[in-house]
Amino acid sequence: MYADVAVCLPLTRTFVYKLTEPVEVGCRVAVPFRKREVEGFIAGFQMEPPVGIDVHPIANIIDHEPLLRPGIFELCRWISEYYLAPLGEVLKSSLPPGISAKHVERLRPSPDPSGRARVASLPNLTDDQLRSLSIILHSQNFHTVLLHGVTGSGKTEIYLRAAEHFLAAGKTSLILVPEIGLTPQLTNRFAGRFPGLTAVLHSSLTKRQRIDEWLRIYGGEARIVIGTRSAVFAPLQNLGLIVVDEEHESSYKQEEVPRYHARDTAVMRAKLARAVVVLGSATPSMESFRNAESKKYEYVGLASRVEDRPLPEVEIVNMRDEYAAEGKQVVFSRRLLQAVITRLERREQTMILLNRRGYAAFLLCRHCGFTFQCSSCSVAMTYHRSIDKLLCHYCGLSRRPPARCPECDSEYIYYVGEGTERLELELKSLLPDARIGRIDRDTMRHLRDYERVLGGFAAGEIDILVGTQMIAKGHDFPRVTLVGVVGADAALSLPDFRAAERTFQLLTQVAGRSGRGDQTGEVVVQSYFPDHYTFQLACTQRFEDFYARESRYRKAMFYPPFTALAGILVMDRDAGRAANLAREVSEFLDSLRSTAVRILGPAPAPVERIKQVHRHQLLIKSSSRGVIHRMLKQLLVHLEEKKIGSTRVTIDVDPLSLL
Ligand code: ADP
Ligand code: ZN
Ligand code: ZN
Repeated sequence: MYADVAVCLPLTRTFVYKLTEPVEVGCRVAVPFRKREVEGFIAGFQMEPPVGIDVHPIANIIDHEPLLRPGIFELCRWISEYYLAPLGEVLKSSLPPGISAKHVERLRPSPDPSGRARVASLPNLTDDQLRSLSIILHSQNFHTVLLHGVTGSGKTEIYLRAAEHFLAAGKTSLILVPEIGLTPQLTNRFAGRFPGLTAVLHSSLTKRQRIDEWLRIYGGEARIVIGTRSAVFAPLQNLGLIVVDEEHESSYKQEEVPRYHARDTAVMRAKLARAVVVLGSATPSMESFRNAESKKYEYVGLASRVEDRPLPEVEIVNMRDEYAAEGKQVVFSRRLLQAVITRLERREQTMILLNRRGYAAFLLCRHCGFTFQCSSCSVAMTYHRSIDKLLCHYCGLSRRPPARCPECDSEYIYYVGEGTERLELELKSLLPDARIGRIDRDTMRHLRDYERVLGGFAAGEIDILVGTQMIAKGHDFPRVTLVGVVGADAALSLPDFRAAERTFQLLTQVAGRSGRGDQTGEVVVQSYFPDHYTFQLACTQRFEDFYARESRYRKAMFYPPFTALAGILVMDRDAGRAANLAREVSEFLDSLRSTAVRILGPAPAPVERIKQVHRHQLLIKSSSRGVIHRMLKQLLVHLEEKKIGSTRVTIDVDPLSLL
């Protein structure tokens, strides 16, 4: 007998080896490969050896029993096909690092496989919640539900009840969240409702913790798993339910090989397991809403908040008027500042969003216009005052800010474009008695940092929480009655066709943090373009209007969700070589003479250089996903023949980041 082995290397095809003893598909093996030994997975069998090739025997069988639960192998195969990623690498990334068959052999059977929910402190479901639940539970076979509920409409409570239902039926549930640190409340609600039955999987775990949690799931002790992206591979058996909370979040897309989208992978896993999958959001992605519109997904809308709490009132402050009145650019409008002061007097809480960390976006010489760029990347360096350094947010390079302009030696150096660090400092000087907390990537290094600040805010020890998009996510703080949005324009001007969608989502999400308790909430958005449709529609939370308007643009420009899209990124340290290789890729695609695709580029990527590597980009669009797929497969074969590796040309199917 011979086995096809998917080696854990960036290679698209499998290789044949001679079997010395029987193994199963999915078992890990070590095989000789180009003068070394590499890890791989048994992917299939062959009775006859391939002709004309020396077939080597497998060197060593690592696991005699596959660690992959039934269905996970098929899921990995789908990812490998759909995202054009090497099967061996997909399989490897589906398992926690360091796991071995020995761990599993030592597992004792779980004493009580039929778990129970804790039923005391439960609210009566609203009619909307009951209706949603009955649609989710109407069949225990595969179906996809898009749960579109405004912020505070009680979606989490629906997830909990659905999980409870499946638990009672002897089935397991998987709850995917965009980021664990930002969802301690959701995690606590599940752990509180299902004590001893939940496991949590996320990237802040140590290797050992991750293996332990994985084993609790594998052994059947943990029957409800809450986790980020890679938890989509959790070794649950008898899966009944998958929830993808905040399904529109871009952190569900992995930005390295394998470049899978956890939401779409979750739908496929549910299909293979004949489970129910619920995609929840207050601002569904264009893709999911389109799938609901075309009846591929079942649509469930929740139009109002629980207990008929009103949605917050949103006001847009025109910052051009503010400039005219103050005679200079200000960070806080008079309107927003007054609203914050009122909250302090009433002992209510405020959240202020500014989606940029650091103190100043860049340093500008007012004399000659020089801006300080990173020497390795084509982006401006951000000034961080606490460490008095300029930092590159792409590569981490840092340097001291200059006292004089390196170009013209003038001393008129200005700090332009505020970040969260500056916001916090300005607030402190304007409102010295206010207790202020900040959440961004600079202040949140560990899970305990989130717990400290979010816990302090929940306990009322912090009056004002300042932060990046991290504060916009699912938090439920009943005493927040004001949300301020500063610098909302920046996201709109990014060179990305999803800029309006992202801005709409961010504004709706952050506005949804206001007025979740007994008091009505208020939102103040500062903008230099107050008439832009994205602001106008986000303010009134008119999602359907936004979808209709954005759809017209996407259709006209041939962009998703009306067109399939793939990105090709060509990279080289040498600018000329990068451009040449991009041209070669483009010529190869042209030689395939497909009339069913549109190819954009090659052109320098919006961020032309990162870490000294020059980047060129091609985009392929087609109404037929199959056509794109076939072309890219041919390209991969061509690149492999020419020994051009995936570090120089990467392929991204359904790309989310085009910078
Ligand atoms: P979402 O996930 O849609 O933002 P949540 O499920 O967090 O909404 O619900 C918002 C708040 O309302 C939470 O504090 C939750 O405990 C509460 N809640 C949810 N369902 C009900 C209900 N049926 N009756 C009363 N309160 C509820
Ligand atoms: Zn200068
Ligand atoms: Zn850099």
